[in-house]
Amino acid sequence: MPVSKQVVLQKAAQFYSESLAHSADAMSYLQARSLPLSVVDDMKIGYAPNEWDGFVSTLNAEEQAAALEIGLIAESNGRRYDSFRNRLIFPIRDEKGNVVGFGGRTLTDDTPKYLNSSESDVFKKSQILYGLDLAVKSGRKHLLVLEGYTDVCGLRAHDINTPVATLGTAFTEQHAHLLAKSNVKHVTFCFDGDKAGRDAAVRAMDAWAMLHEAGVEVGCVFLPDGLDPDEFVNSRGREKFSEYFQSNRLDAANSIAKLGVDRYLSYGKSPGLDAQLNCVAYINDLCMTADVSVERVRAAFDANPAFDCVQHSLLSQIDEFRQPPLE
Ligand code: ATP
Ligand code: MN
Ligand code: MN
Ligand code: MN
Repeated sequence: MPVSKQVVLQKAAQFYSESLAHSADAMSYLQARSLPLSVVDDMKIGYAPNEWDGFVSTLNAEEQAAALEIGLIAESNGRRYDSFRNRLIFPIRDEKGNVVGFGGRTLTDDTPKYLNSSESDVFKKSQILYGLDLAVKSGRKHLLVLEGYTDVCGLRAHDINTPVATLGTAFTEQHAHLLAKSNVKHVTFCFDGDKAGRDAAVRAMDAWAMLHEAGVEVGCVFLPDGLDPDEFVNSRGREKFSEYFQSNRLDAANSIAKLGVDRYLSYGKSPGLDAQLNCVAYINDLCMTADVSVERVRAAFDANPAFDCVQHSLLSQIDEFRQPPLE
């Protein structure tokens, strides 16, 4: 019988974990990023040494075959070598705590910045939320959905033990099911304060409707430009992070209004009619996707002074948004 992938995943987790303490570079990288040993221990953060055969040399032929399949080693001209070299390793566990894959961050400026082990029958990115096993164990019913490994680790370092992360992919309906199944009652999306983060918030809109249907209350926090959750909590502290969360958590209608305003502002000082119609169509689309009524978005515009920058003419058009534009 072939060696199971689980055995090799376990072996790899052990290998990376044991290698961490032997690397001065990796240890000082952790320190530079303010990641304490408690988080290293919780998340079982490890290190892949800067060698071609550190891991592969510990495997027998059968194990190597399994390791090839899950992308922990690679082969070229008949030679097998480690896929992860000189990278900080984040073991990825499923909701039950089984290691299913790894993410590796370069300690230098190498590209790609992150490398993930391959998708296989044991590891499907769209069905995994990094950190979910511990977040569920904490017993808290309100989880934060972030973008990256270091966001989860950064928040945990500040004793916020409810973050989970999609792994650089969109938040999918499968993720929504996973949360509903885990008995979560509230979800707050908090993606990076950049274009990619806002796009991620837009792409998550599909799942809002689903979560809502499953009885999960949903909100979204948009971070200040240029900060991700890890950078926010490390530069401003836990207290400021919580305050920001409390005063900036938006429901679906307000999130749509906010995204509409961002789109509107991207056209400059006084957007022309085309730009305005484009915004209206955009808001319309978001309402349909998230299954939110236009009236609620209009009410959000009316109630929130932060949205006053939008000309009144846009708001009156939102009223008519379900009608096809005039030829
Ligand atoms: P860091 O703080 O270490 O720079 P980050 O988490 O802020 O990392 P982002 O560039 O914001 O990095 O990306 C968010 C997440 O997307 C990462 O944590 C990782 O899971 C995933 N990701 C980013 N770049 C890649 C890549 N090249 N390949 C695969 N996944 C990636
Ligand atoms: Mn980003
Ligand atoms: Mn970051
Ligand atoms: Mn980021």
